[in-house]
Amino acid sequence: MNLYGFLSKLFSALVNPICFQPMPVLENTSGKNLRGLFSVKPIKNTISKIFSAIILSAFLLVFAACTPKTSMPGVSQEELWHETEKQRQLAAEHAIDKQFKNRKSRLKHEEMLNVVSSNILKGGVEICGAFNKDKSLCVYEFILLEKGPINAFADGNRIYITPAMMNFVKNEEELAYILGHEYAHNMMNHIGDMQFNVLAGAVVGALFDGLFSAHGADTRGQFTEAGAQAGRLSYSKEYEAEADYVGLYVATLAGYNVSNAPNFWRQMAVKEPESIYVGMTHPTSPERFIAMQKTVSEIEAKKKRGARLLPEIKKPEETVKAKTRN
Ligand SMILES: [Zn+2]
Repeated sequence: MNLYGFLSKLFSALVNPICFQPMPVLENTSGKNLRGLFSVKPIKNTISKIFSAIILSAFLLVFAACTPKTSMPGVSQEELWHETEKQRQLAAEHAIDKQFKNRKSRLKHEEMLNVVSSNILKGGVEICGAFNKDKSLCVYEFILLEKGPINAFADGNRIYITPAMMNFVKNEEELAYILGHEYAHNMMNHIGDMQFNVLAGAVVGALFDGLFSAHGADTRGQFTEAGAQAGRLSYSKEYEAEADYVGLYVATLAGYNVSNAPNFWRQMAVKEPESIYVGMTHPTSPERFIAMQKTVSEIEAKKKRGARLLPEIKKPEETVKAKTRN
């Protein structure tokens, strides 16, 4: 018997006793009494019974397919209870162990961050003075976040780092490269400049929106948005390059050897490409690598000739020239 034949037989066997129950006997064949035969209620009942039968058939087929084909050892209720208890106990022990490990690793991260951040502050404040900035304004708080992907960022007042980034760095030196870079963002006021650029771009865009609106065209604020975006992107690449440059000096003055810094950033670009593109438009990795190698050479040369380890600061007129060129 083929599958179709089998299913038809099974369906009939199940459906027949359920669906084909004796109908009420018709006393006569007059139109009045025949109304009961075609009333909606019996039809509804029949359809629902057919559906029930189909569902029941489907269940039977599924259960038939799941029937074990071997004689497996049985499990008693007592054995089951013991094993359940054992697994519950192991799960509780694992949770405590995990909590303990997390706490231990957080303490380790906090300790490492305290050491490196205080060194970075010492180096940073020295550079801050070279920029004729009030040193007290160059003291930033370092915050270890509770969670998050491999990342570190600055908001102008604080420097944040995730536990994932703390795990990524292999030693204090590598942490100093990260913190030096973020410290430089704050010290060079990149966040404030960026916000100003966004606002300025939005204002110019809003003027265009207003102009079009005065002539009856609804631009739906597209120029404002485009202006803000242009402001966001303007100089962002330069800000990142500058944070790399100044950051290496900060790390050097903090007492760390920066000769391995270009390679560290290269490794990060290879292993965690997402992490270095978070938040800002970073220069392309090869560009950063080469620029950092040149900065390391510059620092080494200054060390050799006993010069002050400070970034090359542009004279005010050079800054104005560079801005007009851009
Ligand atoms: Zn950056």
